[in-house]
Amino acid sequence: MAARPRPPAVDRLLAHPDAIGLQQRYGRQPVLGAIRARLDELRCRDTPDAADFEPSRLLAGIRIRLERTATPQLRGVFNLTGTVLHTNLGRAPLPAEAAQAAARAATSACNLEFDLDRGRRGDRDDLINGLIRELTGAEAATVVNNNAAAVLLALNTLALRKEVVISRGELVEIGGAFRIPEVMSRAGCRLVEVGATNRTHARDFEAAIGPRTRLVLKAHTSNYAIEGFTAAVPERELAGIAHGHDLPFMVDLGSGTFVDLERWGLPHEPTVQQTLRDGADVVTFSGDKLLGGPQAGLIVGRADLIARIKKNPLKRALRVDKMTLAALESVLQIYRDPDRLAERLTTLRLLTRPQAEIQSLAQRLQPLLATAFGERFAVTVQPCASQIGSGALPVDRLPSAALVLRPRRSGRGSGTALKRLERELRELPAPVIGRIHDGALWLDLRCLDDEAGFTAQLAGAEASAP
Ligand SMILES: *Cc1c(COP(=O)(O)O)cnc(C)c1O
Repeated sequence: MAARPRPPAVDRLLAHPDAIGLQQRYGRQPVLGAIRARLDELRCRDTPDAADFEPSRLLAGIRIRLERTATPQLRGVFNLTGTVLHTNLGRAPLPAEAAQAAARAATSACNLEFDLDRGRRGDRDDLINGLIRELTGAEAATVVNNNAAAVLLALNTLALRKEVVISRGELVEIGGAFRIPEVMSRAGCRLVEVGATNRTHARDFEAAIGPRTRLVLKAHTSNYAIEGFTAAVPERELAGIAHGHDLPFMVDLGSGTFVDLERWGLPHEPTVQQTLRDGADVVTFSGDKLLGGPQAGLIVGRADLIARIKKNPLKRALRVDKMTLAALESVLQIYRDPDRLAERLTTLRLLTRPQAEIQSLAQRLQPLLATAFGERFAVTVQPCASQIGSGALPVDRLPSAALVLRPRRSGRGSGTALKRLERELRELPAPVIGRIHDGALWLDLRCLDDEAGFTAQLAGAEASAP
């Protein structure tokens, strides 16, 4: 029987030129750890191969291992799903200037809660209060971590241990764990449902309001639409009913926007300004849906109610950090110049991208994909429809164009081929996320901004394709 090969000494490996390079890149500890782990693995084998212990081969394996662990878990991906505001893919991409503002705030001291005029302690909400007042006409504003937090905080402040009336048709679930009835109970409020799922009338609200009522709530049914025999009480009328009983009227807008999207040919979505003009006393909305900013929840409205909300101890638990505020302020600044919004606000630029432009992008990329995947898939350019996403405007679609990869082999093998293609694209350094539909993989190019990065990667995909 041949003698078992002897592994090289760890010190000798560490002194190898390849290992020195790795230590310069990753540090001594991680390299040492990876060497030890690999040697342990080889020693445990029944029949170790002497070649595996050869230093440069051993270190090549260790390089791969170190590269893998150094790759960030949170990575940029190509969102080619056709859903612009994709919650699982990070929702709104920030404009570069907003990201830079966040980075500046993150890397140096800043006046987060310091009043530079008076040289004393300040309030972080004051950083954006002026802009929100100017843009929306609200008297005051406060910012928390997301819109779910905004709704929770507002309800808990305005109606703790009391009743909140809301139409039965608006008891929505917004994906994940956000359901209006559950948030309501966590906020410590009692839900009073009004009307029927499809129809609610003013008289239903009048009948439901009693001595324990503290708030009338309207939730924008952002992720579904009820069609047919429906009736809802218009906001202006609902505000009138609430005010007639000396109650505040709150609207959870979900995907709040400051601009009339119809100006850019997009479907109508109620604006924060109009909701306030219609009589809402408090309006809540997300920072990273149609607004196109960082993840945040904005609460805007009557100064006395916002002041109460800010005094709630929960506010401290839900407040946003300096990076979020810096990015939000920068995005709000962009809104001051609505004429250039579609160029400067990334979300709106993607939503208004003309189909013809997406189509020619698809045609430019088609030959590259055909080269990379053409043996296994027929690659064509097809019209498709993108969605806004994040619950906004659930029924309207935006005309777009996609690269469609359809397996050449039909029948049972085609599903497997598609799954494999999907995985190959997900395993790229910048993963490409598409959508399987109708027996093919669809890559909707509406959100493809970095054409050069995408093309460079395809060369790699081609090399690794079997
Ligand atoms: C999206 C949405 C929420 C939750 O907002 P997040 O910012 O995701 O926390 C709440 N209400 C409505 C109506 C929504 O559309």
